[in-house]
Amino acid sequence: MDMVAVLKSVQYENIGILFLCHSSIGRDGGEQVLVLGDNCFYKGVIIHELNHAAGFFHEQSRFDRDKYVQVNWENVQDGKQDDFAKQSPTILSLLGTTYDYGSIMHYGAKTFSKNGNPVLTPRYDPHGLMGQRNGFSKLDIWKLNYMYGCVKDKFCSQALNLV
Ligand SMILES: [Zn+2]
Repeated sequence: MDMVAVLKSVQYENIGILFLCHSSIGRDGGEQVLVLGDNCFYKGVIIHELNHAAGFFHEQSRFDRDKYVQVNWENVQDGKQDDFAKQSPTILSLLGTTYDYGSIMHYGAKTFSKNGNPVLTPRYDPHGLMGQRNGFSKLDIWKLNYMYGCVKDKFCSQALNLV
């Protein structure tokens, strides 16, 4: 999956490139600004930010996440607590999917740790996938296809392929 395919799949006409790592969740009208800094020009990070723009929250923001990860609040950097907030079912749909430690939208154990200790402790074996930025997980791709009307049993010329 290259970046052009991702851009086509989310059907954005204009994506601006600035200099941090940030994207708002979903389309916010007009040009979508994707903010990418020096540390962000990695395929996985770009996919992560584009997936925010496509409407996806962090995986650990799921309202059912406490069953899958423990948040160690005492280790969270000051000012980063909102990054570990749960989103309510009125805002976030699980799309019928199971929790995905391997999602490109999942933080690593020590992301935004202020002391080097884990912020997220998995309750099940994440098989080393938690926080991976190699590319989409199979569920990430399934969710994108579902969100944008490209489910497996329906013809859709822009469906993303499992890679
Ligand atoms: Zn993010």
